[in-house]
Amino acid sequence: MKKISILGATGSIGQNTLDLISFEKDKFKVVGLTGARNIELLARNAIEFNADVVAIADESKFYDLKNMLFGHKTEVCAGDSGILEVSGRQTDWVMSAIVGSAGLLPGLNALKSGANLALANKESMVAAGPIMKQISSLNGVKLIPVDSEHSAIAQVLRGEERETLAKIIITASGGAFRSFSKSELENVTPDQASTHPNWAMGQRITIDSASLFNKALEVIEAKEFFNLSASEIEVVIHPESLVHAIACFHDGGMKAHLGPADMKHSIAYALHEEKRLKLPLDEINLAELGTLNFGKPDLVKYPALKLGYEVVEHGGLAGAAFNAAKEEALDNFISCKLSFLGMADVVRATMDELYSANELNNDLEIEAILELDRLARSVAKTFVEKF
Ligand code: NAD
Ligand code: MG
Repeated sequence: MKKISILGATGSIGQNTLDLISFEKDKFKVVGLTGARNIELLARNAIEFNADVVAIADESKFYDLKNMLFGHKTEVCAGDSGILEVSGRQTDWVMSAIVGSAGLLPGLNALKSGANLALANKESMVAAGPIMKQISSLNGVKLIPVDSEHSAIAQVLRGEERETLAKIIITASGGAFRSFSKSELENVTPDQASTHPNWAMGQRITIDSASLFNKALEVIEAKEFFNLSASEIEVVIHPESLVHAIACFHDGGMKAHLGPADMKHSIAYALHEEKRLKLPLDEINLAELGTLNFGKPDLVKYPALKLGYEVVEHGGLAGAAFNAAKEEALDNFISCKLSFLGMADVVRATMDELYSANELNNDLEIEAILELDRLARSVAKTFVEKF
């Protein structure tokens, strides 16, 4: 049996992963599950999947969770240390699906403990890609992309020689406001931004999809996973979200990956480590669909994308700063202290200040990354008050 743990089990990716495991329960042993606050769901999943250990990030919920699991053999931990405890348990495979930079240390811990890491948490690749890759190669374990575009890139590059690749295209749906003009974006609310036309996802990534911050993170993630330069990564708007990535080769040939807008496809590909199993999942019916649309992203409407490309060009600690500033701006948009368009203004101002103060050098040690994450959040906070 394959021993697995899921970090961020109570979220959208975590639940999709458990759904896949429930199709083939006899093949998997669930070692650990973690969540931030939802103890009812965590306890239910721990009992159903007979987990060895669970951790809840919110320490105040420890005793309630322990009571819910009374009489079961599941061990209970809490707080950041509890999440680290679970991520360090011996397993074959770990899903990293905590949202935000909170996923970085648990993911690294899982790699250090010798597990292959399926990485939905794009923020850890954005903030610390070189460290993630170094630890995975030092420990002889795999770092497997789960993000649909990056899983698609891995699939289209399979069997190809790297030197023959001209560029990669990743698609963006355009999110909740793709038909809005820039002026119509001025007064949109967090509620409006939290509904995605194609994908069912957690609130934060859904809002990031509407602003294209998600795509900016994915451009950086693509650079890290596949060693691409900025000019080798193109973003194309594709409202249907069915083509996820295209590899363009020097001979003019292109290989596209298509799949329904359902994360179970790329999670399954990561879970079965590149084996394609027969699974009860949806398929695309091209004849019924008729048309697929593609367009150029509007960089005036979506300044986030330009910021992402600048991070790819700059390298070093720019990814960690960008992600932290974006998380701070997003928190303030969700709590209605910042407008939707204000998010990109705050991140632009934060990055400009940090670039010109020479704070974003190449000191890619984990301590420097965590320190810069704190600095970028505090600089971003000062700009939230101005925009
Ligand atoms: P979500 O909000 O639905 O779930 C997040 C999970 O992280 C939950 O289990 C939550 O309890 C946990 N969590 C939140 N804050 C935490 C903290 N401080 N400490 C510990 N645990 C914490 O998010 P999601 O949509 O499942 O996304 C998870 C990750 O996967 C994100 O990095 C996202 O960008 C990435 N991703 C998601 C999708 C998708 O379709 N949902 C697609 C591609 C990539
Ligand atoms: Mg994606």
